[in-house]
Amino acid sequence: MRFHFGILGSLCLVSVPGCVPATPAAPPVSSASARTLPASLDRDQIMQVSVINALMLGQYDGQMGITEMLQYGNFGVGTLDHLDGELIVLDGTAYQVRGDGKVVEVGPDRSTPFVAVTSFEEDGAFPCPPVGSLTALEAYLNETLPQKNNFVAIRVEARFNSLTLRSVHRQDPPYKPLAEVAKSQSVWTHENLGGTLVGIRSPAWVDGLNVPGYHWHFLSEDHKIGGHLLDCRVRDGQVRYDVCGDWLLKLSESKEFNATDIGRDLSRDLKRVESSRGEEGEGNGEAKK
Ligand SMILES: [Zn+2]
Repeated sequence: MRFHFGILGSLCLVSVPGCVPATPAAPPVSSASARTLPASLDRDQIMQVSVINALMLGQYDGQMGITEMLQYGNFGVGTLDHLDGELIVLDGTAYQVRGDGKVVEVGPDRSTPFVAVTSFEEDGAFPCPPVGSLTALEAYLNETLPQKNNFVAIRVEARFNSLTLRSVHRQDPPYKPLAEVAKSQSVWTHENLGGTLVGIRSPAWVDGLNVPGYHWHFLSEDHKIGGHLLDCRVRDGQVRYDVCGDWLLKLSESKEFNATDIGRDLSRDLKRVESSRGEEGEGNGEAKK
């Protein structure tokens, strides 16, 4: 692992004509080549599109086409243009968990306003013990993976006694802030399910730029169930991790982005958005098995 740390700001994203974020079409690259990571890729790098505070403040227009995004990594979490559900990148394929819970493969016509991806190259692995909550899982990982000032990509393949997942519904402009939109999120609880947690653990110092701590999305073995993870009970599994010492940040040059006060402290709203089951608590949303 390396500890070089690069922020390339103010990059004009080549797939976005004039850098105007208006749901840009991805460059015409075949899906087969999209899954082959370029040889020049920095394998120890987290590539991030936009910053979390911009998303919090309603910057939901796509900034990078999905095909281009997949050339930066085969593993990661984010969302789609128009905040159209949860985005999961696993083994080089991008999946969308729509607001109605349906999981579909993301086509090359879609783009992302916020994502963090890496080329997952395992630095180590260990068994995942049975844990009764997401809080307990994260406490265990905090002890086992002490690299608290690096990004860590974490892949947990496991059987789950239960999983609580959410997704959000597609938005149209003028966009409302994420804290408002999240009030109408869908929340589901599933039991006895196998699948993969796709996680990016960001250092505490990214406050305002990414989600400090763990950001988990889940995809079931059959790719039919997924979402942003709110809670889980793990029966047994395996943790694989990749410590990342490089950080590439892609920023829009749009008028909208530059008119947004991303320096504000939105940490309390973010915590609520990332971990809340909704205003009505556990009873919110529908329950599925
Ligand atoms: Zn998420």
